[in-house]
Amino acid sequence: MKYVEEYRDTELGRNLIKRIASVSKRPARFMEFCGGHTVSIMKHGIRQLLPSNIEMLSGPGCPVCVTPVGDIDKAVFLAGKPGAIISTFGDMIRVPGSVSTLQKAKGEGADVRIVYSTQDALEIARQNPAKSVIFVGVGFETTAPTVAASVRQAFKEGLTNYYVLSLHKLTPPIIRALLTAQELDLDGIICPGHVSAVTGARPYEFIGNEYNISAVISGFEPLDILLAVEMLIRQVEEGRHMLENAYPRVVRYEGNRQALDIMNEVFEVSPSNWRGIGVVDQSGLRLRDKYGALDAEKAFDIERVDVRENPGCICGEILRGVKSPSDCRLFKNVCNPGNPVGPCMVSAEGSCSAHYLYGGENER
Ligand code: SF4
Repeated sequence: MKYVEEYRDTELGRNLIKRIASVSKRPARFMEFCGGHTVSIMKHGIRQLLPSNIEMLSGPGCPVCVTPVGDIDKAVFLAGKPGAIISTFGDMIRVPGSVSTLQKAKGEGADVRIVYSTQDALEIARQNPAKSVIFVGVGFETTAPTVAASVRQAFKEGLTNYYVLSLHKLTPPIIRALLTAQELDLDGIICPGHVSAVTGARPYEFIGNEYNISAVISGFEPLDILLAVEMLIRQVEEGRHMLENAYPRVVRYEGNRQALDIMNEVFEVSPSNWRGIGVVDQSGLRLRDKYGALDAEKAFDIERVDVRENPGCICGEILRGVKSPSDCRLFKNVCNPGNPVGPCMVSAEGSCSAHYLYGGENER
């Protein structure tokens, strides 16, 4: 498959690893932002292939994982409303809230449906005019435009039974928040690939300009990541701190204008609560007033419950990069993909899931 197989070429991979070993002289610590990067790094054993002076940390780029317990509780509450149909993407329904999950609510009679696109959710609304169809929208700048398109479409059609619970999050502000918190002594960041296809490269320039940290946008195949790591190492060795794009086949400097326009038309930037990090200014998206009638937060009187997190789960610290899954005492023995205690084990992009599936025997 073009743009996939050639980025998995073993010979090219060996050469890249040799190049990395030859240029890497000093210790460096890099964070891969995206859960998709983490999965690829773990799956292809990239950490083990890098020189021992290079440390890789995982970041908060898993949208299901960063959705806090209180927001899961909102979705579970809405599922219990008479006449409600909850539609969302697959991983969301297994994430534990304070007392329940969407999956449990479904088992108890709530109408919870997994959809593969917002168009499916819209169709459910058209076919069930007497019901309230609530799409629970999670994700970064990659998914927000498609949700925005569904809102605009529902508005245009005059659908009065389609709502969005917008839990969307923005990536540049959370990277800024992590760097400002200074919990990690990072030398470089592997910036989001698919998100950057929408945002463009420009929003990540602040990493080098303001924080003196090297940054490279990367794709998700093993050679993409190795190339990004090599570019980061070269920057560190040469004392450069700038944004480079190792994913030019997908990411342009200005991003995808059409996707950005529809996102900006429907959503406005708002504060957002991140699991393990807290409320970060300007890091979320809420519906603009024009579309307020479709905003589930406004349309329903959502009852607040006391937020209860599992005290043994350290997903929050893992998302900040300060701990790794093997630091969690529940990892593997209590928490596993069949019995996930926290979202990092639920999501296919979660660190705990990736370490469980690909970490090998060395991970407890
Ligand atoms: Fe949470 Fe399970 Fe990961 Fe531990 S292993 S941090 S309990 S998701």
